[in-house]
Amino acid sequence: EMVVVGSVNADLVVRVDRRPAPGETVIGSDLVTHPGGKGANQAVAAARLGARVALLGRIGSDGHGEFLHKALAGDGVGLGHLVETPGPSGVALITVGADGDNSIIVSPGVNARLSEDDVAAAAGLLASARVVSLQLESPLAAVLAAARTAARVVFNLSPPAVVPDELLALCDPLVVNEHEAAFLLGGRGAPGSQARALLALGPRSVVLTLGAGGAVVAEPGGVIEVPSPRVEAVDTTGAGDAFTGALAWRLAGGDDLATATAFAVRVGAASVRRPGAQSSYPYPEDLEAL
Ligand code: ADP
Repeated sequence: EMVVVGSVNADLVVRVDRRPAPGETVIGSDLVTHPGGKGANQAVAAARLGARVALLGRIGSDGHGEFLHKALAGDGVGLGHLVETPGPSGVALITVGADGDNSIIVSPGVNARLSEDDVAAAAGLLASARVVSLQLESPLAAVLAAARTAARVVFNLSPPAVVPDELLALCDPLVVNEHEAAFLLGGRGAPGSQARALLALGPRSVVLTLGAGGAVVAEPGGVIEVPSPRVEAVDTTGAGDAFTGALAWRLAGGDDLATATAFAVRVGAASVRRPGAQSSYPYPEDLEAL
């Protein structure tokens, strides 16, 4: 019913009291390795909720690739178009400082090799899906090719980059957080007017996420604010991916955008109550309290 096209990374996390200056060495905590990557995160978020979801992407022929494949299979993500590729898997090197702040280096590895040919090889799958969900940890040419093939595109402009108007025009919706909105618009503003300005860039609809503030939906018919449930935030890593995966799934199920967004804010909120990205993603029963 839905397909995610995107990145699969191993998140390598070390806690440090302080980060090393150039040329310096510091001792950190034991290394913890988590499955991550925006594409995989979205697919896992949807699968946990009950979606039938396939992931189109590339994993490396290394130990991380094996680990990532196993994790995705364990969550029931369809992996028939996850291409194992000679070379290193994508990796995010994450240091968590004493105050809980993250510094992240992403090494794309074989995610960078996702190609228009990969998309063409999955054309049948993409065309039969109700929704195809896209982000930008994969090459733009592949993302654009997938968007052209899809019945409906959910596109998260993350990490932010300049994209062609053609891609924006295919988005229904374009999903951005406040940083990504500021990148596109060249500045900040009130959420409602930001959402309206984003809609004027050409997408069919817009969802602007606002962290604890929930989200704003903009469609040609008007703008709606969707508050998030109040939760105690422990770790917001991957909240946007959980939100977008849930949103895409509800849209594939036939919800209108406001209804799907009202569901997705609950999934995003649930995901910040526990540490990690995928490790924090909820099952349906975890949403009942929200
Ligand atoms: P990103 O993770 O891309 O920066 P946001 O921070 O906007 O995106 O979070 C995405 C969604 O996750 C929000 O729309 C909201 O539903 C939920 N969320 C994030 N942070 C919080 C929070 N502190 N309290 C409640 N919900 C949150």
